[in-house]
Amino acid sequence: MIRHLPPAVAARIAAGEVVERPASVVKELVENAIDAGATRITIDVEGGGLTLIRVADDGHGIDPSDLPIAFERHATSKLTSDDDLDRIDTLGFRGEALPSIAAVADVECVTRTAVQPHAWMVKVQGGAAAAPEPATRTTGTTMSIHGLFAELPARRKFLRGRSGENGQVVTLIANLALGSPLISFCLRLDGRRSIETSGDGDLAAAMAAVHGRKIAEYLVPIEPDEGDSDRVEVGGCLGWGEATLPTRAGLTLLVNGRWVQSRALTFAVDEAYRTLIQVGRYPIAVLHLQVPPGDVDVNVHPRKSEVRLLHERAAFAAIQRAIRRTLAGFSGPPATSLLGPDKRGSTEGTAESWTVGLRVLGQAGATYIIAEGSAGIYLVDQHAAHERVLFERIHGSWEGQTERQALLEPAVLDLPPRVAAVARDHLDALAGAGFEVEPFGEGALLARAVPAALTERDPLGVLAQALQALADEAPPADWRERLAILFACHSASRAGDQLTFEEMASLLEQLGEADLCQACSHGRPTAILLSHHQLAREFGRLY
Ligand code: ADP
Ligand code: MG
Repeated sequence: MIRHLPPAVAARIAAGEVVERPASVVKELVENAIDAGATRITIDVEGGGLTLIRVADDGHGIDPSDLPIAFERHATSKLTSDDDLDRIDTLGFRGEALPSIAAVADVECVTRTAVQPHAWMVKVQGGAAAAPEPATRTTGTTMSIHGLFAELPARRKFLRGRSGENGQVVTLIANLALGSPLISFCLRLDGRRSIETSGDGDLAAAMAAVHGRKIAEYLVPIEPDEGDSDRVEVGGCLGWGEATLPTRAGLTLLVNGRWVQSRALTFAVDEAYRTLIQVGRYPIAVLHLQVPPGDVDVNVHPRKSEVRLLHERAAFAAIQRAIRRTLAGFSGPPATSLLGPDKRGSTEGTAESWTVGLRVLGQAGATYIIAEGSAGIYLVDQHAAHERVLFERIHGSWEGQTERQALLEPAVLDLPPRVAAVARDHLDALAGAGFEVEPFGEGALLARAVPAALTERDPLGVLAQALQALADEAPPADWRERLAILFACHSASRAGDQLTFEEMASLLEQLGEADLCQACSHGRPTAILLSHHQLAREFGRLY
């Protein structure tokens, strides 16, 4: 027999689409608060969200006449016609969240608009709203959700337990807070404060509040660029050095103010960061893309976290440009944390180009160059610095040509057959990185030209080592870049090499000409700064 589902059951099934877990309830409630123009949002989660979820905001509140309707399906104040779907600028628009939540939990809403003499409270139990009653609170809305999924034991079984669900809420609030630095967020888990941002609009400060204070000196705001395509504008703030993580969890992507997840855009960020941070590390970064509202489809999924961009290639390119430009322009090493955090250090460290006018004082441990500049004393890792210089010369500084030096007589390089085969399959990439070689019998290569940067450093020995390394590792995504990294790494002066004053001065000068002088090609820092300020403080000269 075919029957219509009882409305309460149908509502619960539909609610599953929107309300998958406690974090989805938090997301809908917080997004409503953001849509309501809140400047401060407080979130309390107890028992992993199953006992209580409470979101209080200071937004515009709900008019008492709208209160009962707010919990009805497809009731929204944000969309009135079909056309509006093409230019959504609020986070919510479906009018599904409140009825869906009310279908799987008990809801209590206390709300007050600026023109009401007092607040109103409405309780929704079993999906049915009771008549509103007078209540007290200032302008804004408090939504309290009790007994989530209490009637759905099967759903409860799929949850990850208190700490797992709490983790999802923390990730959510972290990302929403970074997307709205002008809103102060306070998240408490079982009464304990987990995240608190000030809402003063300073994105870097919000990132430090969310990810930890020690990253503060490794954050660089993205400079706006007139040259960017008019369809995609990229803003935000980029981390490097200490502001990196072993997972991609530190990346927050926003499209038109909405927190999104996108494999394509994440990949663009990974690519742009390659060689700037250590292998296996990922940046803490916030990237904010602004595109014309008609260019983005947020209607893909009820949970609204995946976006589809009309001009994904343009977005990809804009992200890469913004990251490269920002990190190339940021040419100073951060103030060191050796002597504790230095509040003034980061601005001193970002002076135009810190390598200009450095005076070499000496070499320490046959590993570090000690130099003095206007900001203080620099310790430069000679291997990292040399590697960056060589990498840029071999890679042709990203766009340009790699300078080659023809050999007077072609030289034969004998290799194990397996290694020679790697070279034979990638003659173009080798030529791109400056090595003009051709197959010469089974296990040998004939070299006709080598990268000019390597002429003084046994280029064929470097080539043999690099090819051996390539034969032993997974094929790289970008052969030319990988070759440049390997050549640079195998030919850079090592820790332990004694350098003359002239060699050190010349290295610092070349480093000053590198596009990205603050990191070696593996992303390790090339230098640290002991600022005058830090030195004075350590010696008790500051009061
Ligand atoms: P949507 O956000 O898609 O419009 P919801 O079910 O989330 O749908 O909310 C329904 C309506 O209730 C909203 O359109 C809004 O008018 C009102 N509302 C919900 N939460 C709040 C809040 N915190 N402050 C002010 N209005 C709210
Ligand atoms: Mg909503």
